[in-house]
Order: sequence, then structure tokens, then C-alpha cells
Amino acid sequence: MDAQVIRSSSESPSARNTGYATQPPLQRFLANCYEEFKSDNSGAVADYIPELRRANPAHFGVALVTIDGHIYEVGDSAVPFTIQSVSKAFVFALALEMVGEERVAAAIGVEPSGEAFNSIRLTNDNRPFNPMVNAGAIAVASLIKKDSAAAGVRMFIEKMQLAAGRKLRIDGAVLASETTTGNRNRAIAYLMLNFGIIDNDVNHTLQQYFSQCSLLVNCRDLAIMAATLANMGTNPVTAEPVFDFQYIKDVLAVMFTCGLYDHAGEWAYRVGLPAKSGVGGGLLAVVNRQLGIAVYSPRLDAKGNSVRGIMVCRELADRLGLHAFEFTNVGSSFMQSML
Ligand code: GLU
Repeated sequence: MDAQVIRSSSESPSARNTGYATQPPLQRFLANCYEEFKSDNSGAVADYIPELRRANPAHFGVALVTIDGHIYEVGDSAVPFTIQSVSKAFVFALALEMVGEERVAAAIGVEPSGEAFNSIRLTNDNRPFNPMVNAGAIAVASLIKKDSAAAGVRMFIEKMQLAAGRKLRIDGAVLASETTTGNRNRAIAYLMLNFGIIDNDVNHTLQQYFSQCSLLVNCRDLAIMAATLANMGTNPVTAEPVFDFQYIKDVLAVMFTCGLYDHAGEWAYRVGLPAKSGVGGGLLAVVNRQLGIAVYSPRLDAKGNSVRGIMVCRELADRLGLHAFEFTNVGSSFMQSML
């Protein structure tokens, strides 16, 4: 399928202005959003993983990909950053495919925790609350890891490459930084070992988890990945099947209720889209059967979500009527009019 790429880059502001009036409405809308929010400097880059401090706080990119393969992007949409917790949505899909719903449900719940992403609390039956917080994702890593750590990480990278439609790699410096400083995640893992949620090979599980978080992506990749979820598991740009469609609804449901840590309820209320954020500054949202949205802006709010990411998604949802329960959301025919 041909992808229509209309790029409006911050490196070449003139490109953004050229032919503005002739740009498709959706591209114009993205450019307006970018202009509106780029001067907001609230929030701070994550620093509890030392290597994340190196992110440029000014970076800001937005990308949107429709399920018929159109790509729209503005700003720093090609700047690489680590995927961090955004990977949790995809490894959850992987776990469902690899070991099935029953084994996943035995190890991990689907309840919003109402707590921070790195909370050490488990449910009353000693499972992690859901796969979108650290505890749940570490339990997922334990389920999907392979006999050798390298094989497990390779399998994860291959899946993510299919979802992005291009070659990806792990950021070695971020991986080393997380591995050295990730004692809280280690504590969470040992607590789960104590309750029999994960097996004895804690180091191996954590290696899988830290590697997943350290995958380098850009905003455009995340939008294509989000559009792959919107498109029932098939990458709309490459037409390659990536995720088993029977599990997409499970993944989207958990993203809807748990994707933004302890901001998840507010997000469902105000934005109303399945989404996932990461402390690297990435945020993606899925408009089911219509499009994927991604924002990269590394300044985070107190809950670890990208400040501009939330602003852009809220604006898009409001202005385009994308909230899942919005009465103006009449499906793809509506989006068609915006292309
Ligand atoms: N690697 C990060 C951690 O384990 C991921 C956190 C996040 O993005 O929410 O703390």
C-alpha cells in the first residue's frame, strides 16, 4: 500500500509554511496543534534513569497514521528516543499470543491500579494490577522470555520492527543505565517471585524487561504501531500482519483503562481513547478502526506522562470528535472527509 507522507519538519520551518492552504485539513490541524503547544515548557525530563536526562526537553513531534496508510507528521517526529512503557501494550499482545489468555490472566490482572507506574503494591490475590504498570510488565516479560536472554530480546525486536515497518535497535546506554539503577524494579520482581507470579530466573526476566524499555523508536514509528493496533493488528503502511487480531480488543481495553498510570481515569474521561505513555516522553493513542496518533515530547508531568502529549491528544480528541463515546464520532467516513 502506498503511504502518503506529508512532512512538516521543525528543521525546515519554511516547509511548514509552504502551501499551507493547500495542505490536507488533517495536516493543517497537526501543524496548528504543534504551533499552539510548542511554547509550553511545563514539566521535566525524567531523571531517575540517569541516561534519560540527556533528552532535549525542547523536542516535540506529532505523527498521525490512518488505517489506509496515510502518514502525517510535524516537528521532531524523526528524533529517536526510548520507547519505555509504551512497549507494555505490545508485549502484552505478545504474551497473549505466546501463552494464551488463561496463563496471562493467572499471572496479571486487568484492574487500574490508581497508583504510580512503579508502585510495588500487588492485588489482594498477589498479582500485579495490570500489564501497563511496571509490575505487570515484568510479569509479562517473565512469560515471554526465551531460554536465552538474547533470543527473547531478538523475538521482541522482530515483532516491534514489523509493527514499525523498519529496522529498530536497543539503546545500549539506556539499557545499561536502567540495569544499574533499576533496584525498585528488582524489588518488584522479587516480591512477585515470592508469590510465585514469576519464576526463579529473575535476572533473565529483568533483562527482557529493561531491554524492551530501551528500544529506540521515533514518533512516526509509534504512530504506525498505534495504527497497527487500530487496523486489527495489520501494519497499514506495509500491509504486513503483526499481531493476532483476536487479542487486539484485549490490548485496547487495558490501554483504555490503565494506559496512563494514575491519570488513566481522567484520560478516559477527557480524551476517551486507548493509549499508552512512557517516561521517555512518547505517548500513543488509538482511534479504533481509524488511526494511530503519537506524540514525542520528553517533558513529563508529576505522573510521568508527556505534558504536550496529553495536550495534543486532548485537542485532537476534542476538535475531531475522537472520544470513544463522542456523539460526533461516526467512524471512518468522518475521518475520510479530513484527508
Ligand atoms: N523503564 C522504566 C521503568 O521501569 C519504564 C517506566 C515508564 O515508562 O513508565 O521505570
